[in-house]
Amino acid sequence: MSMHELTLRQIASGLANKDFSATELTQSLLARIQTVDPQLNSFITVTEELALSQAKSADERRAAGENGALLGAPIAHKDLFCTQNVLTSCASKILSGFKAPYNATVVEKLASAGTVTLGKLNMDEFAMGSANESSHYGAVKNPWDLTRVPGGSSGGSAAAVAARLIPAATGTDTGGSIRQPAALTNLTGLKPTYGRVSRWGMIAYASSLDQGGPLARNAEDCALLLQAMAGFDPKDSTSVDQPLDDYLAALDKPLAGLRIGLPKEYFGAGLDARIGEKVLAVVEELKKLGATVKEISLPNMQHAIPAYYVIAPAEASSNLSRFDGVRFGYRCENPVNLEDLYKRSRGEGFGAEVKRRIMVGTYALSAGYYDAYYIKAQQIRRLIKNDFVAAFNEVDLIIGPTTPNLAWKLGEKNADPVSAYLEDIYTITANLAGIPGLSMPAGFVDGLPVGVQLLAPYFQEGRLLNVAHQYQQVTDWHTQAPTGF
Ligand code: GLN
Repeated sequence: MSMHELTLRQIASGLANKDFSATELTQSLLARIQTVDPQLNSFITVTEELALSQAKSADERRAAGENGALLGAPIAHKDLFCTQNVLTSCASKILSGFKAPYNATVVEKLASAGTVTLGKLNMDEFAMGSANESSHYGAVKNPWDLTRVPGGSSGGSAAAVAARLIPAATGTDTGGSIRQPAALTNLTGLKPTYGRVSRWGMIAYASSLDQGGPLARNAEDCALLLQAMAGFDPKDSTSVDQPLDDYLAALDKPLAGLRIGLPKEYFGAGLDARIGEKVLAVVEELKKLGATVKEISLPNMQHAIPAYYVIAPAEASSNLSRFDGVRFGYRCENPVNLEDLYKRSRGEGFGAEVKRRIMVGTYALSAGYYDAYYIKAQQIRRLIKNDFVAAFNEVDLIIGPTTPNLAWKLGEKNADPVSAYLEDIYTITANLAGIPGLSMPAGFVDGLPVGVQLLAPYFQEGRLLNVAHQYQQVTDWHTQAPTGF
């Protein structure tokens, strides 16, 4: 097996057995990124110098007797995690040239576990999108079909891992941005419970929904990364001070007695029937492992997209007001006065989708509309949360599709943003409620990957990883690589 084909777990044993050093592995992946990534556009920045120095120090720590599972493991970060002295762009022109003065907590935690950062990954501008086409640095291509989107907004993370440029990456999920690109590229991706992973140093899109998490080739690698990323952070006021589970230990629990719920609302109009069949096939496999299944209902699901597309833009319009040409990144040429500086820096610095969200959000928060839209959306949010709380009184896990459709053609939904918003139907409820969700590979339709989503009660990331891992012991969808990569 070539080095680039190894999972994080296999890399850990290769390093421990001295089959190769972290430096050799890093050099080989850097060379592969250089030759392969031009087809995909998954990296915004390759941090060669940083990677080689981190690899060297990982090799030294191993030589001194340390043996951590992530010591020397190559990864890359979505380009909205602040990385000290490295461009942190959010894939926006407005952050051109912005080098963060500090590391995000997630970046810091992974670095101290010994990971080697190969670079910063492309994404939708400010994480707004489901196709990774809104990046100032150009669209990302899906390695399963270079004429199709990889999903978004963590599309660079997904494409790079799926194409075996890196074994795993960080992503963030505000309405599906880890799970949806994982589904469209045959990866396992986990959005943790809101508050489980620190948001400090993660540039905010919609603060009450954003959550960082891992994308990798299997559940075991996601567990390895989550163990290092998660935990209480006093610097993030929404971080939850609750002990971390042992996610690796959770993987091996037998599934006998697991109660699965299938929401009847998931299988209505809008779902590609071939994806629905894959969901049912996963359920059959889990039944063989001892799970039981029943139909449940999430009656307010139909209101989730409208509520999300009020709340997320409202929060974004407030969060993005700091980018005004004064303190960070891009500033327009020759402003005539302060107002001109603000207007032109923002007008020239933000892309079309970001401007659309700022306008929608500002409208929803303005006097007179706040009650009609924003408050209403928050009330719906509570109903959606209550639906999950009620469902989890009856079942341990909810299963459904991650996306209603397969990866679509680049440009296909550009003229109609609402059709792209509808792709989030299965993922955004977890963000609105704050519960954890995972997408895992479940087969192929027309040569394109299909993801199945697992949802669990608050702080049950271990259960999600356990079920996905057990499923991955009896199936091999997750091991399939795109042809040519
Ligand atoms: N597609 C959704 C949006 O555009 C979710 C994006 C995300 O999770 N960051 O808002």
